[in-house]
Parts: sequence; structure tokens; C-alpha cells
Amino acid sequence: MIDQNASGFCFVRKNLAGNLVTTAFNHTTGLAVDPIEKKPLYHFLPGSKILSFGTVGCNLGCSFCQNWAFAKTEQPMQPVTAALIIAAAQDHDCASVAFTYNEPVIFSEFAIHIAQACREHRLKTVAVTNGYIQAPARKEFFECMDATNVDLKGFSEAFYQKYCNAHLQPVLETLRYIHTSTKTWLEITNLLIPGANDNPDEIRSMCQWIAAELGRDVPIHFSAFHPDYRLLDNNVTPIETLKTARDIAQQSGLRFVYLGNVSQNDETPTVCQQCGQLIIRRTGYKITDYQLDETGHCSFCKTSCSGVFSYQS
Ligand code: SF4
Repeated sequence: MIDQNASGFCFVRKNLAGNLVTTAFNHTTGLAVDPIEKKPLYHFLPGSKILSFGTVGCNLGCSFCQNWAFAKTEQPMQPVTAALIIAAAQDHDCASVAFTYNEPVIFSEFAIHIAQACREHRLKTVAVTNGYIQAPARKEFFECMDATNVDLKGFSEAFYQKYCNAHLQPVLETLRYIHTSTKTWLEITNLLIPGANDNPDEIRSMCQWIAAELGRDVPIHFSAFHPDYRLLDNNVTPIETLKTARDIAQQSGLRFVYLGNVSQNDETPTVCQQCGQLIIRRTGYKITDYQLDETGHCSFCKTSCSGVFSYQS
């Protein structure tokens, strides 16, 4: 059974249980070479290039979707194979392949297929995901991902229901699972929307939960909202809100707190937690100073920085 939408592009069908499933296997909306900092991942092979890959569709219904063209509309797709993706990554000196743009959980069979092929060719794999995946599917998906950035959209059930048409608890369970049961390097993004999820008490609760459940070394990226999709009347997130969130996160014990979607000229440094020296300076997505050795130890005091800094890891 095929569902044909008005545009004529058709990448969903009904399975035997009557559920809509994607037919995007062996298709892509496009490939792009990005700095890995753009995902964002700041503690996973910093300064390396990554081949970004996506299809169409999403399992959440965020009214603020910043990527709605890929997540919420049908797009023309090109045929592609795992071999083509690997060749493109190698041709462009990419260290890894990212499953991104739309939600990789909904094309997990294809993502897993590509990820397994990447491993055979010594390419790392990255999932940029909302973390909305049930327990039986988690294991297979994350065991072939070397790193992930999970978008934790807020820290209240009310927010998830009102703005995402989803629930908070499954995302928290995924975060706990990644931390306790996988080798996947984890970073978190939190998009702050004025008047929706930027209450300081809610941000504090989230940061305290992360510190207690996932540890203080999980990097968190507070990201600025821009009006998009169905949330066009909200304001852009003021820089003061992002800085307040950073203060709260640091007070809650989180060691690596970054601001995103701000001016490309803004610097987002990483500081050694032992000696306080600046060990990675970034300007926009560019690394402008790097003071770690090849295994991720501070050049000044030799303390190890949390993350993955070696291609051999
Ligand atoms: S999870 Fe991400 S891609 Fe999906 S609807 Fe929400 S913001 Fe858009």
C-alpha cells in the first residue's frame, strides 16, 4: 500500500500492521561536508571533517522545527548506496559520517547498514538525534554509532507534549541508556525558546539531572532559537538567556558548557579542568588554538580531557 502525497514524491508506505514506514532505504536528500563542530560535537575528533547524510521525515512534531524542510515535507531524493557514501567521505578526507538533517531513528535500518560499512572502512559514525527511540531498537542503533548528539528539547512533560507532540521520559531513558550501556560518545543540545523552555528553574533541573545521571563531563550546547516552521511569532533567543543558562549549568557542576547558533565570530573555548588553561579555542566552527596531544591530554599539565581525540579510539 502506497501513500502518495500532493508533491508526487513518495517515501512512506503502510506495513502489514498498518503503520507508516519509510521507504527511504538507498536514497538521500543530499550529502555535505561539514566541520564536525557544526553537528555540534566539540569533544569528538575536533577539527575533523564529517560527511553529513539525511533522508526525509521525523517521528516528532516540533512546532519550532529548525529543519522542517527535511523533517516535515517531502523532498526529492537521489539514489545512493553505502559504497557511494563511503567513497564520498574518503574523497573529501572525512573522518566520519553523520546521520543528520532529519531524524535518523526513522531510517535506522539504512543508517545501521551504512554505519556497519563505515566501520569496515575505518570511518567513524555519528547520529544527530532526538533520542526518541524505544528500548528494543536502541541497542542495534547505538552499538554502531561512535558518537551522538541528542537534542534534549526541554525538561518538562508539558513542554514535550505542547511543542513536540511527544513525551520527555523516553528521551531521558535513551540518554541514560547511551551513558550506561554503550561506548558511544555523548553530547547534548538544548534549544532555548523564549517563553517556552527557558525558565531558569527548568534549566537548573535539567542540568542537575544531567550531572547526577550522566556525569559532569557530558558537554551541553545551549542553542539560540530562530522563528521557524509554526513558531514564527516567538523572538530570537537573547544572548543573555544563553549566558544565564551557561551560568546555571556551570553552577550545577557541568564542566563543558557551550553556546550555539550565535555569532560566527564568537569564541567557544574548552578549558582544562585541572590547570584552567585554554586547550581548544574555536571561532565559529573553526579551531583557532589546540593544546591537546594526540591522545587528548592537556599540553600544559598532561591531564586527560573527556572526549575522543584519537582516530584509533
Ligand atoms: S525532532 Fe528535530 S527534526 Fe524532528 S520535528 Fe523536532 S526539531 Fe524537527
